[in-house]
Amino acid sequence: MHNFYPADFRGQFPALQDAGVYLDSAATTLKPQCLIDATAAFYSLSAGTVHRSHYAAARELTGRYEQARTQVASWINAADPHSIVWTRGTTEAINLVAQSWLGPQLRPGDEIVVSEAEHHANLVPWLMLAQSRNAKLIKLPLAADRLPDLTMLPQLLNDKTRLLALGQMSNVTGGRPALEQAITLAHQAGAKVMIDGAQGIVHARTDVQALDIDFYAFSGHKFYGPMGIGVLYAKPELLEAMPPWHGGGKMLTRVDFDGFTVQPPPWRFEAGTPNVAGVVGLSATLDWLASIDMDAAERWSCGLADIAEEQLATLPGFRSFRASNASLLSFELAGLHHHDVVTLLAESGVALRAGQHCAQPMMQALGVSGTLRASFAPYNTLQDVEALVRALRLAVDLLGDA
Ligand code: PMP
Repeated sequence: MHNFYPADFRGQFPALQDAGVYLDSAATTLKPQCLIDATAAFYSLSAGTVHRSHYAAARELTGRYEQARTQVASWINAADPHSIVWTRGTTEAINLVAQSWLGPQLRPGDEIVVSEAEHHANLVPWLMLAQSRNAKLIKLPLAADRLPDLTMLPQLLNDKTRLLALGQMSNVTGGRPALEQAITLAHQAGAKVMIDGAQGIVHARTDVQALDIDFYAFSGHKFYGPMGIGVLYAKPELLEAMPPWHGGGKMLTRVDFDGFTVQPPPWRFEAGTPNVAGVVGLSATLDWLASIDMDAAERWSCGLADIAEEQLATLPGFRSFRASNASLLSFELAGLHHHDVVTLLAESGVALRAGQHCAQPMMQALGVSGTLRASFAPYNTLQDVEALVRALRLAVDLLGDA
């Protein structure tokens, strides 16, 4: 049974008991009680680690760790749980693909197409790789609607293109490119596709098989889960062909001074003691989320962003960069520096983010030095919107007089 009752949902987040208005969920979501309980129970009651010891507690933990893989696989409709690799987050997952999948096959003159809307996490790993191999990074520019211009893809993709790197949702505008169209075009050109799901995963169910995604990455902490745990999904045949990237315990089956043989995926990519607490916490979060009507929750957050945008439009110099139906609202107030504004907002107890949002090329494309960004989540309320509008009016009055 799925449902969404805003007050009940909000009640799951102890951090909201403090006075203050949290509008920075695109940076990281607050943590629900189920995650806090699961983490406390893990550290208070569990013994041992995973895949190493044979006593009952350690075996039980290994079972939970692997069961969580199955849970994540089913959340994104991956056919095989072994196509889920635990990472520290989106950034590490993308670096893993860059180092282990693209690195070994990238030749001088090869091309990587990256959208101009990307977070640095889905740009810099490709840039580093391209620079080290004399390959080329090709920009997929923004269209007038501030989404990557997919109509440019047919002319940008060619037989030298190895990869298309694209975000599921921009952390600046909340815009969602048509993944299916982009992926089809990339595949027609013989390229693989890396989808950065850091922002997208929490807003809509993602079906990696229906979309035919090659590589998909997301972070637990933007999905009501713990920090320090993330996921790389890759098609099994791609993972199978990838060499390990970190060497250490448990990624191998045999080692001596002449060499080693590696584990199959996903363990091949999980050298060292993993973040078991993170996996257990993410699993508890997914158990809870499974009971929530995520579409209704999303409508609630978008509704709040709609109201905020409408009310802020009356402020002098207000310009919105918000994509339609986005729950995050990036904006500028012409003539006022975003850092000055956000500092005053903080004094009013309103937490939001200002700056370049780790998306400098996108800032350049938008022609701004930075934006303010209020990102709404289903635990936010109309009172939060009112507090934001009040605090911004005050900031505009104060800074306007300065
Ligand atoms: N991509 C996008 C679109 C993001 O918003 C973020 C986080 N700001 C990342 C990637 C990186 O995520 P993480 O820092 O959790 O690795």
